[in-house]
Amino acid sequence: MRLGMLIDLRTCIGCHACSVACKSEFDVPLGVFRDTVKYVEDGKYPHARRHFVPVLCNHCEDAPCLAACPTGAISKPDGQAVIIDKSLCNANRMCMAACPYGAIYIDPFEGVAQKCTFCDHRTAQGLMPACVDACPTHCRIFGDLDDPDSAIARKAASNKTAVWKPAARTSPRVLYIDPKGALDLVRDAGIQSGTDDSAQGKPERKA
Ligand code: SF4
Ligand code: SF4
Repeated sequence: MRLGMLIDLRTCIGCHACSVACKSEFDVPLGVFRDTVKYVEDGKYPHARRHFVPVLCNHCEDAPCLAACPTGAISKPDGQAVIIDKSLCNANRMCMAACPYGAIYIDPFEGVAQKCTFCDHRTAQGLMPACVDACPTHCRIFGDLDDPDSAIARKAASNKTAVWKPAARTSPRVLYIDPKGALDLVRDAGIQSGTDDSAQGKPERKA
């Protein structure tokens, strides 16, 4: 078992249905993100292009956040999602400093580290993560990368896949089909910052 997600950038339309579904599922405060979509342009008129790159915690096989946490709050149970036990988190931010993707934020209301969980509360009941269910183009596939009969494994096997920030060498379990090289255009961005059309204001609870 090796849970992962495959995002086909050829069919992402940048609609943000995924990130809105995530915000709603977890009541994520404004200004911080578990899942968002980067917008980035390249080329010059008349050949300019806009790319949409959905990003979330990569649930890395070699997760530096897990290694950096001094309280044992972060774990990766047997091929499942990398998760944070908030009862063990003292908000020392070591995980945030270690994550190359900016995937972790401190919840301004609970005062603990939070990030994408691959919706483990939903998948435990046989549901898909909220972002996968919400995507109108079905460009996100979630499942067991180690099961050769799974939709994700079959799509990964029949396409060239890439990961975000390969130089970080974290063995991400979020894979992309990225024939236009959009991931490289957001290599310096993070989930909480960088190339993004989202508001980056002071965190506050939604109305
Ligand atoms: Fe940890 Fe960051 Fe990798 Fe997620 S993306 S598992 S928070 S190092
Ligand atoms: Fe792209 Fe799907 Fe997210 Fe829309 S919901 S931005 S198409 S990944």
